[in-house]
Amino acid sequence: MIPMKIPLSAPDISLAEIEAVVEVLRSSRLSLGPKLEEFERAVAIYTGAPYAIGVSSGTAGLHLCMLAFGIRPGDEVIVPSFTFVAAANAIRYVGANPVFVDIDPVTLNIDPEQAEAAITNKTRAIVAVHTFGYPADMDALLTIARRHGLLLIEDACEAIGAESHSQKVGALGDAGIFAFYPNKQITTGEGGMIVTRDSGVAKKIRALRNQGRYETDDWFQHSELGFNYRLSEMHCALGSAQMKRIESILTAREAVARAYHQFLDNCTDILLPPAYAPQGRISWFVYVVRLHEKFTRAQRDAVLKHFASAEIGCGRYFAPIHMQPSYGAWRNSYFLPVTESVSARTLALPFFNKLTQADVQHICAVLRETLERLTKPNFSRNPR
Ligand SMILES: *Cc1c(COP(=O)(O)O)cnc(C)c1O
Repeated sequence: MIPMKIPLSAPDISLAEIEAVVEVLRSSRLSLGPKLEEFERAVAIYTGAPYAIGVSSGTAGLHLCMLAFGIRPGDEVIVPSFTFVAAANAIRYVGANPVFVDIDPVTLNIDPEQAEAAITNKTRAIVAVHTFGYPADMDALLTIARRHGLLLIEDACEAIGAESHSQKVGALGDAGIFAFYPNKQITTGEGGMIVTRDSGVAKKIRALRNQGRYETDDWFQHSELGFNYRLSEMHCALGSAQMKRIESILTAREAVARAYHQFLDNCTDILLPPAYAPQGRISWFVYVVRLHEKFTRAQRDAVLKHFASAEIGCGRYFAPIHMQPSYGAWRNSYFLPVTESVSARTLALPFFNKLTQADVQHICAVLRETLERLTKPNFSRNPR
């Protein structure tokens, strides 16, 4: 890969955080120690959920949730297609069937009405994804889940710190999952965390992440068919230190989003993401704009190419899950017009804590210039 002058994302690790990891390396506890407890406590207190369980990734967290809630082969789980593939893969890991529904064209989150319409007598759960850190419509989804006796699992992997009615997402449904990959708001390199109010589920998840051992089991007693989904002390020291400054991280990201809004405000060729969530708070994960309807997928891809040549990181978020090669068996069963039209025209612009106003201004100038060239009549002809 060509190194970018402005990357799509960049982790923000402070000296104190490097020190915190080194301190663990100097100790004798490298796994299942005090840093895990500290990190779990920090996330539990922050989200308001009584139990938090650290795991090796967000994907591992989703998998363990499916298992701990007893989702089985033949069960159906409702999930949006416009999201990261792990949300649906976890459903398949336990042999259940992901049922894809379309999204709201403004928030890009699962459309509650369509989720309700997709319920059958096999449905066990709804996975609500807080896409790009914008809180899903939890009022509507909780009402639907209760009405039909379904579990509501929050994939909050893109949304730590997002709020709905002043309550943190992740702690609103039956369980929520956070992820700490380097492009997320808080990072541990790799890592994840499950939060829940259900003590039985928390116990089961703790056992499953640690080779099926309950806290009362000895090291060679395996009560469940478990996994090694543990998170090392080095990861937890980093996560715990990052949690200490989460508010300033979220504020810095809000400022970058505001800068983009300001510099792109009057650009009629693109649709900006909503600046505010009316009854909550956005935790900015990425800054994804959408090209106007008049642009084709090919033109969007031409913009991506132009950004690459200008050495500016840029991505397409997301290709629909039901159209992935690994979802061949699902592909022809679905037509999700909003998902398919949105995903053909999205453009993720560079977005990270330390992105400067000057960088944002430069990126926006490049974007405007690229779109102007695209709309000139003879664009489609190849230069030379
Ligand atoms: C990042 C992410 C995950 C999980 O990510 P890991 O890389 O496994 O930590 C799951 N769902 C969504 C929506 C994500 O964005």
